[in-house]
Amino acid sequence: MIIQLKPDATPHDLQRIEETLARHGWKSMPVQTQYRRYLVGIGKREIDLRQIGHLPGIADVFRVTDNFKLVSRKWRIEETCIDLGDGVRIGAGHFALMAGPCSIESEQQVAETIAHLEENGIRIMRGGVYKPRSSPYSFRGLGLEGLKMWHAQARPAGIKIITEVMMPQQIEAMYPYVDIFQVGARNAQNFNLLDALGEVDKPVLLKRGISGTIEELLQSAEYIFSGGNERILLCERGIRTYEKAYRNCFDINAVAILKERSHLPVIADPSHGVGLRRYVPQVALASVMAGADGLIMEVHRCPEEAFSDGQQTLDFKEAGLLYRKLALARQTLRQMDAWH
Ligand code: PEP
Ligand code: MN
Repeated sequence: MIIQLKPDATPHDLQRIEETLARHGWKSMPVQTQYRRYLVGIGKREIDLRQIGHLPGIADVFRVTDNFKLVSRKWRIEETCIDLGDGVRIGAGHFALMAGPCSIESEQQVAETIAHLEENGIRIMRGGVYKPRSSPYSFRGLGLEGLKMWHAQARPAGIKIITEVMMPQQIEAMYPYVDIFQVGARNAQNFNLLDALGEVDKPVLLKRGISGTIEELLQSAEYIFSGGNERILLCERGIRTYEKAYRNCFDINAVAILKERSHLPVIADPSHGVGLRRYVPQVALASVMAGADGLIMEVHRCPEEAFSDGQQTLDFKEAGLLYRKLALARQTLRQMDAWH
């Protein structure tokens, strides 16, 4: 159950609601986000919502039986829009492309990428400065200095920054330079990190775990929301299966299912999703058709020279062609959506 509290609900009101729930055998957890106050009710016993709904301090009561509640579409019908400012919005009809290298490598690489994004009207640049690598001997990122260098170029160009945070201790130093914190697949169930990002008032893009279920992704998102941060993007980036013909199995089903189960925007990552450059366009186009609110993609002037994930990275020409195809796909989808 989700109880939306009135902004002026008093501690006494809260206590009375909690006591009433407890009498019915329900536990409750207060949640304060950057926008609203809630009380999440947890219990199995039958309860007549009318016995709760009339209590002072309550704006609305919703029955949500899923394990994930605040991120569920069962109580919030309208889609969430993540507003990054300066006219950059994601979700609720606003489609967003995020593109950039796997890793931030150099000033020159950042400059080249920004020029490519500007040419194509893309407002959000991706790039890792803290890289989770399978091998400790691989390139692990330029760290905070790299992020500052990137920010110094991106800010004057009006480009927003999405980058991965790996540990709670990194958040504070990264905060001034980041527009969206990315939680990587390997950290999708790092609950300490999720708790910490709940306390941050900046959007978080949460990737699905390498072997994570859809429900686990939604429950991880619930950590962030119940921790106080409503600004979450869900990201399908492929899961591990027995198949060896590609790196990961992009779960197109997940895009459609997440859109239905949650009010949060759903972002597709076709680069990690398939892991091989020549299939990225097909997967990208398919995710638009499945209803994704945006895409995050790896691009590089010369993928062969990329410090990481070159095999799944598009060069600027390939990416440019794909952006045009994506625009056409979205136009077609809008036309189809108008059919009844
Ligand atoms: C990345 O975005 O470069 C990345 C490491 O992604 P993932 O966590 O999905 O593997
Ligand atoms: Mn990568």
